[in-house]
Amino acid sequence: MKAPLTLARYSIGVGDRFGREGRAQLRALQALRDAGVTVVPVWNKSFREHSLIGTRPADVRRAADAAVAAANWAGGHHVDADHISLKNVDGFLDASDFFTLDVADHIGVAAPEAEIQAFAGRHRDLVGRIAVAGMPQPIVLTAELLAASARKYLHAVREAGRLYRHIEAAKGAGTFVTEVSMDETNAPQTPPEMLVILAAIADEKIPAQTVAPKFTGRFNKGVDYVGDPAVFAAEFAADVCVIRHAVARFGLPANLKLSVHSGSDKFSLYGPIAAALRRFGAGVHLKTAGTTWLEEVIGLAEAGGDGLEAARDVYRLARGRFEELCAPYATVIDVQTQRLPPVEAVMQWDGPRLARALRHDPRCAEFNPDFRQFVHVSFRVAAEMGPRYLAAVEKHAEVVGRNVAANLLERHLRPLFDGLRA
Ligand SMILES: [Zn+2]
Repeated sequence: MKAPLTLARYSIGVGDRFGREGRAQLRALQALRDAGVTVVPVWNKSFREHSLIGTRPADVRRAADAAVAAANWAGGHHVDADHISLKNVDGFLDASDFFTLDVADHIGVAAPEAEIQAFAGRHRDLVGRIAVAGMPQPIVLTAELLAASARKYLHAVREAGRLYRHIEAAKGAGTFVTEVSMDETNAPQTPPEMLVILAAIADEKIPAQTVAPKFTGRFNKGVDYVGDPAVFAAEFAADVCVIRHAVARFGLPANLKLSVHSGSDKFSLYGPIAAALRRFGAGVHLKTAGTTWLEEVIGLAEAGGDGLEAARDVYRLARGRFEELCAPYATVIDVQTQRLPPVEAVMQWDGPRLARALRHDPRCAEFNPDFRQFVHVSFRVAAEMGPRYLAAVEKHAEVVGRNVAANLLERHLRPLFDGLRA
């Protein structure tokens, strides 16, 4: 039997809304690879994003393969059917070799009580104090806590199992990477809950290679983490240890690792994540998407002329549709309208001024996080501008690509992976 498709230790979700930036993204990854660290790109696009832009999974596959060929990238790559469910997975089956099974909507829906009791009975050895290597304190699970966690998560994991088997039946076992995601929910999962979730994933025989929990704090799109990085650091390290424990205990894939969603621009977390990777020899998948689209707008602004006009128009047109554009992203943005610049002002800005407002440079006095988050969700307007937007991106590919590559390399890849080896 062929070896199953295995995700590398370090990987990064590199969204590319309009499919034009793959080569620039690979330039950043190649620079890191030249320095000794291979981080595998995974082009991810969710059903939501496809519907908002009017693209199809085959477009992502085509753009990814073309970029990889043009760049002579030899580090491997994947195409992620991001945040899919049974309702929309079928359209992704051909083009994707990575599936993010999103079962967050099923959290809190209790499975039948008999199944809860059967699960608790099967995993009775989890009750008590469990010493997990690397954790300062043992995990303490009471029978009540075990049952309560099962009541909260068992149904969701069962749903992930149904979805996994649906994909496996279509594509064949071992031909794709499986991620289980629970991040788009309000309450974070604690390390003891993570252990119960992983037990259930093993019971369902889902060969998960990544798992995306909801971490403590807010992961707003395109801006830094909101919360206490020290609390995150402890939670991340504990999850890494729980995963390692669960791999050995339940026979899950040896390369199972954490996936951090809305992971771009979380500058205050990259130090703690890198420290945990180094300390435990762990891997990570960092999922990013919109940060590259924002660099497209920044590059257009810097290009001036029709590029700058297109960039300003994205904001002008989007501003009148604030509620509509923000609604699908309510749990992952926090935009105060009174802090957005007036449209009339932005229409007068020159390219460098617009770029400074948008670029994620926290030390720059003109950087505006509310503006940045709002433009992050405004890509639908660019999609509607259609050929005019795409022509501008192509015409100014040089300056746009320079921004895309520098953002990925200097603000993301280097802070996270520099000095690691893979
Ligand atoms: Zn997510």
